[in-house]
Amino acid sequence: MPRCAGYKRDGSPCERIVSASQRFCFAHDPAHAAQRSRNASKAARSKPSRELAAVKKRLRGLAEDVLAARVDQDAAAVASRILGVYLRAVEQERKVRELEDLLSRIEALEKRQRQEGRADRWG
Ligand SMILES: [Zn+2]
Repeated sequence: MPRCAGYKRDGSPCERIVSASQRFCFAHDPAHAAQRSRNASKAARSKPSRELAAVKKRLRGLAEDVLAARVDQDAAAVASRILGVYLRAVEQERKVRELEDLLSRIEALEKRQRQEGRADRWG
């Protein structure tokens, strides 16, 4: 069975098995590098991660305001509870998106496998 010709981050050879027509696994295929970086930057730009950053900033500001006695402690406690609920909602949304992304990737793999299966039988 052919193995990927790429190298892992630590410099050791990648051990993923690839099909006979391929030299690299998806993670190391230079043809996919652009798509990989697009996916990574898309994740960084995504709505949940922007929202998380905004809420983190808000919570830190709130904590500083409480310590400096700039806000009423009861109001700050209520605000932080609300922000906590909001964070959980954002996290749920992120999980759902992640699952949808995984599902579509699995479907693409299954489709490719079915096509390759047919090619093996008839080719
Ligand atoms: Zn590889």
